[in-house]
Amino acid sequence: MGDGKRTYVVLLGVPGAGKGTQARLLEEKLKLPQISTGDIFRYNLKNQTELGVLAKSYMDQGALVPDEVTIRMVEDRLAQPDCAAGAIMDGFPRNLVQAKAFDTMVAPYGGVRVAPLISLDDEEAVRRITGRRVCRTCGAVYHVDFNPSEVAGKCDLDGGELYQRDDDKPETVRHRLYVYYKQTAPLIGYYYAKSILVELDGAQPIESVYEQLVALVDKSS
Ligand SMILES: [Zn+2]
Repeated sequence: MGDGKRTYVVLLGVPGAGKGTQARLLEEKLKLPQISTGDIFRYNLKNQTELGVLAKSYMDQGALVPDEVTIRMVEDRLAQPDCAAGAIMDGFPRNLVQAKAFDTMVAPYGGVRVAPLISLDDEEAVRRITGRRVCRTCGAVYHVDFNPSEVAGKCDLDGGELYQRDDDKPETVRHRLYVYYKQTAPLIGYYYAKSILVELDGAQPIESVYEQLVALVDKSS
């Protein structure tokens, strides 16, 4: 580095499009940490940081954690030494307020480099998510269509019971899609207007999407 530039990649796409999977693959390849709000929240809650305690006070009331709290958590995370070359963002920013705050945050380092949109048909997204099954014993993840266990309902590794997480139930998935279209989809236009949006076909195999993402980040560097 040294020129003050950092590589910030913002992954966009409906729930189920594979952002998390791709973020983990890219993390390894690009040597940039993947940053997901889920991880950041868990860290702050577990370590009872000032922001974690603040976030919990909202969650305990069943309220949404305000953007400013989430934004400060991300800011703290990006100040860690492992983020010195940039980061791959998965699930943040998730609305325009967060996107604008993020722009301000990363402006001194050259701004957001590229915002890949992994596009996927809604019905396919629903099928991908609702088909997931998780082992109660070891946490292994299966899919009823794409990666079934040998014996239905039982883990191949330990025979543990496979269940569907609440987050993956059809009604929850519909709601997650609704929230996505209402809050996050406006970011597509936002990054398009900045000429850093690139759309990829998320229906392709994971490996193909991954290769295109790597090429995209390389090209933008
Ligand atoms: Zn298991």
